[in-house]
Amino acid sequence: MRTIAVLGATGSIGASALDVIARHPERFRVGVLSAHRNVEALALLCERFRPPWAVIADPALEGALARRLAAAGLSTGTAAGPEALEQAAAGVLCDTVIAAIVGAAGLGSTLAAARAGKRLLLANKESAVCAGPLLRAALAAGGGDLLPVDSEHNALFQCLPGGRPADLAAAGVRRLILTASGGPFRGRRRAELAAVTPDQACAHPNWVMGRKISVDSATLMNKGLEVIEAHVLFGAPAACIEVLVHPQSLVHSLVEYADGSVLAELGHPDMRTALACALAWPQRIEAGVPALDLVSRHALTFEQPDCATFRCLPLAYAALAAGGDAPAVLNAANEVAVAGFLAGSLPFLMIADVVEAVLDALPSQPVTDLETLVHRDLTARETAHRIIGARLRC
Ligand code: NAD
Ligand code: MG
Repeated sequence: MRTIAVLGATGSIGASALDVIARHPERFRVGVLSAHRNVEALALLCERFRPPWAVIADPALEGALARRLAAAGLSTGTAAGPEALEQAAAGVLCDTVIAAIVGAAGLGSTLAAARAGKRLLLANKESAVCAGPLLRAALAAGGGDLLPVDSEHNALFQCLPGGRPADLAAAGVRRLILTASGGPFRGRRRAELAAVTPDQACAHPNWVMGRKISVDSATLMNKGLEVIEAHVLFGAPAACIEVLVHPQSLVHSLVEYADGSVLAELGHPDMRTALACALAWPQRIEAGVPALDLVSRHALTFEQPDCATFRCLPLAYAALAAGGDAPAVLNAANEVAVAGFLAGSLPFLMIADVVEAVLDALPSQPVTDLETLVHRDLTARETAHRIIGARLRC
């Protein structure tokens, strides 16, 4: 029996994870649930899954959560704030942590779970991007497993010998090929993107996801973050990580070997597959996902990404090449720019401009420790806000 902490339980990944967990009460029970500010959604999940512990990230809402749970007759204990998330991720109430918080806000709890040797199911790609060297060190110190949940990395994990071989070249791996759907604006030119709205950007053709990652998919920054995530998780040099646009989203990624073999993982674009794979690994369990009918799908097509229109992808490669904390700076600038776009204050095309300007303003420094990195993340956010303010005044 595994006891699971679902951090970011009220989100899209949280819902998919709890759907899989609920299908297997003999295998999984819920130890901890967390949310950012939505007390009611978290309380409803507590009523359904009866965890011993619930964490609300916003400290001002702990009283409201405790009162709501008590009124429902639940004995679930409550805590609040970022430290409480870290304690829950590392504590005795779980052996498995699903890191499904969005953005760098997931960094502390992801690292805490890794240091504590939990089985870490990583959806929160931003923490791998921001703190790759720290995450690797925490995993080595804790001695636990990391199982990728991001569908591309879960696919690579399934296609690589032993999941995450210590030396890709020695394992005969030539290239990791990440597939990208291309997002809702695939095939459009820059001029056609000037006036797109947040709702248009979030209308993903294949996947149903939270709004931040949906915008990242529309800009191709999601794929850029995933290139960096693949570098961190599998130790592949940037030159061996390629991106191909595959609009059907049925091939989730591929591994090319020295002998010419190419292994791929296919399935419906439904995150429950990757979550069930990571939850039960090395066993396979029912995920609620229908069988893939390849005959009715007709064609699988692949094309090169349009890096001139979707500049976030080359910017992410540039941050990976710069090394050090450049990926953290890229991520922080992107989070600020995407929030501005979702709030209606920043045009879509300026997301890449802001990220580029922040990377130019803050040349890369080595990643030494978490405090320095968190400070750098804040500096990058302030710089992004300043640049946005200046550009919008022009
Ligand atoms: P979402 O916006 O639907 O959910 C985010 C969750 O994080 C919510 O539970 C929210 O309450 C919590 N949260 C938000 N801000 C927080 C904060 N400051 N502190 C603590 N908790 C906070 O997002 P999502 O689509 O479920 O994505 C979650 C993560 O998984 C992201 O890193 C995303 O890149 C990654 N991911 C998502 C998908 C997908 O299909 N949705 C696929 C691959 C990877
Ligand atoms: Mg992905």
